[in-house]
Amino acid sequence: MNDAPRTYDVVVIGAGPVGENVADRTRAAGLSTVIIESELIGGECSFWACEPSKALLRPVLVRADARRVVGLDPGTGRALDAAAVLAHRDEIVSNWTDDDQVDWLTSVGVDLVRGHGRMEGPRHVAVRTPDGATVRLEARQAVAVCTGSRAALPDLPGLDTLRPWTSRNATSAHEVPGRLAVVGGGVVAVEMATAWRGLGAQVTLLVRGTGLLSRMEPFAGEMVAESLREAGVDVRFDTTVAAAVREDGPGGEVRITLADGGQLVADEILFATGRAPRTDDIGLESIGLTPGSWLTVDDTGVVPEVPGGWLYAAGDVNRRALLTHQGKYQARITGAVIAARANGESLDERPWGAHRTTADTAAVPQVVFTHPEIASVGLTTTEARRTGRHVDVVDYEIGSVAGAVQYAKGYQGKARMLVDPDRSTVVGVTFAGLGVAELLHSATVVVAGETPVERLWHAVPAFPTISEVWLRLLETYRG
Ligand SMILES: Cc1cc2nc3c(=O)[nH]c(=O)nc-3n(C[C@H](O)[C@H](O)[C@H](O)COP(=O)(O)OP(=O)(O)OC[C@H]3O[C@@H](n4cnc5c(N)ncnc54)[C@H](O)[C@@H]3O)c2cc1C
Repeated sequence: MNDAPRTYDVVVIGAGPVGENVADRTRAAGLSTVIIESELIGGECSFWACEPSKALLRPVLVRADARRVVGLDPGTGRALDAAAVLAHRDEIVSNWTDDDQVDWLTSVGVDLVRGHGRMEGPRHVAVRTPDGATVRLEARQAVAVCTGSRAALPDLPGLDTLRPWTSRNATSAHEVPGRLAVVGGGVVAVEMATAWRGLGAQVTLLVRGTGLLSRMEPFAGEMVAESLREAGVDVRFDTTVAAAVREDGPGGEVRITLADGGQLVADEILFATGRAPRTDDIGLESIGLTPGSWLTVDDTGVVPEVPGGWLYAAGDVNRRALLTHQGKYQARITGAVIAARANGESLDERPWGAHRTTADTAAVPQVVFTHPEIASVGLTTTEARRTGRHVDVVDYEIGSVAGAVQYAKGYQGKARMLVDPDRSTVVGVTFAGLGVAELLHSATVVVAGETPVERLWHAVPAFPTISEVWLRLLETYRG
C-alpha cells in the first residue's frame, strides 16, 4: 500500500451520469480531475434505470399507439416478442459493460480509479480497489459526491429470504415472470407495470394511497390507472403489504399477505417504494455528517453544513430531483462553480445566473413513459396550493386539437397550464396523452424563459400538430 496521496484539483466520487458531467466540466476548465467508480461507469441510469427501462417500454408503447391508428395491424391479442425485446434491452445496456464510457473518460482527460471511495477527513478520499489495495487521493479544490441512490425496501420481516425485485431486477430480468406483484404507485411502479404487462406478465399493482403518481396533477394518475386496467393490470388502491414470504426451493412462489387480511400469490414481487441515498459508507462521519443521510446543497451545489466550501453533492444524492437530466444540469453548474472558484472568479448567483441551479426549484421537467405518456414541468396545482402560491389554472382536452385527431383515433388527453397572474408568465404545465413526451421541451422553454403570455401568442404552432394545444390553452385563458 502506498500511503502518499495522489493530488488532483477535483475528486469526484461516483461515475454515474452526474459524476461524469461534473468531471467533464471541471476537466474542460483545465482542472486535473479524477473520478472513482465502484461498479459500472455510467451508473444506475445507463444500466439499471432510464436506458433499459425505456428499451423495454418502447415496443409496448408503440404497439399501444398503433392499435389506435387505422389500417395498421399491431397484432391485437398477440403477445410481443419478449425474447427480442429483452435481447434489444441487453444491446442498449452493452450487456452491462462500460468500455465505451471508459474510452470517453480517457478522451476527455479524466483519470479513473475503480473501487469504493470513502472520505477520510476534509478533502481526502481513500479508494478500496477490487484487488484489495488502497489508493489515497487528495483534492486541492473540491470533492464532489455523486454516489446516487438505491432502491429503498420496506421494513418487512423475512425480507432476506424473499429475494424481491428492486428496480435493478425489473430492468435487467431475462425472463418474463408469469405473475408479477408491483408494490408502489410512483413512476418506477407504473412504468414497470406497463412494461412487464406488455411483455406478457399478469401484473397486480398494490398501491398504499388512493391514486397513482401522487406528485403530479391528479388527472395524470387517473388516466394511467384507467389505461393500466384496460391493459389487464389489476390495480388496487388503499392496499398495504403486511408480509411476504417466498416458498422454499427454486421457482418458489411469493405469498403476499395484505393489511386487510387478503392473500395474493405471485412469481415475483417488485418493491418500487422509493429511493435511499448511497451515503451509508462514504465516510460522512469523518467530516461531521451522518452516514446514510441525503446531502443537502445550496443553489451552487455546495454542502453548506461542511465548513470550507470544498464539498459538493450533485444528482440523486442531494434529493433535489431524482432525474438524470436534472442531475446533469446540477453537474454542469457545479462544475462551473468549482472552476470559477479555483480561478478566483466571482460567481453569478442571480436567479438563472451561470452559477445557480434555479431550474431545480422552478422548472424540473419529467416524462412518465406510460400509455398515455405524462409530461410535466414546473408547478402543479397541488404544489401551488401547498406553498400558498396563487395561480390561474387553464385546462384543455388535447383530443380536440387537429394534430391529436390525426395522431390516433379516439385520442384522449389533457393539458393543464398554470399562469402566475401577477407576472403573466407560465409557471407550470402538464400534458397527459399519446406522444406528448416530445412536447415537453416547449413547455420547459416557456417556464424557464419566463416568457410573457402575450408573447406566446406569437409562437405559432404548426398545423396539424399536437402542439396546437398551446394555442387552445391561450385562447381558453383569454376567454
Ligand atoms: C427504473 C428507473 C427508471 C428511471 N428512468 C429515468 C428516466 O427515464 N429519466 C430520468 O431522467 N431519470 C430516470 N431515473 C432516475 C435516474 O436513474 C437517476 O436520477 C440517475 O441515475 C441519477 O444519476 P446519479 O449520477 O446521481 O446516480 P447514479 O446513476 O446512481 O450513479 C451513481 C454512481 O456512483 C457509484 N458509487 C456509489 N457509491 C460509490 C462509492 N462509495 N465509491 C465509488 N462509486 C460509488 C455507483 O456505483 C454509481 O455508478 C430512473 C430511475 C429508475 C430506478
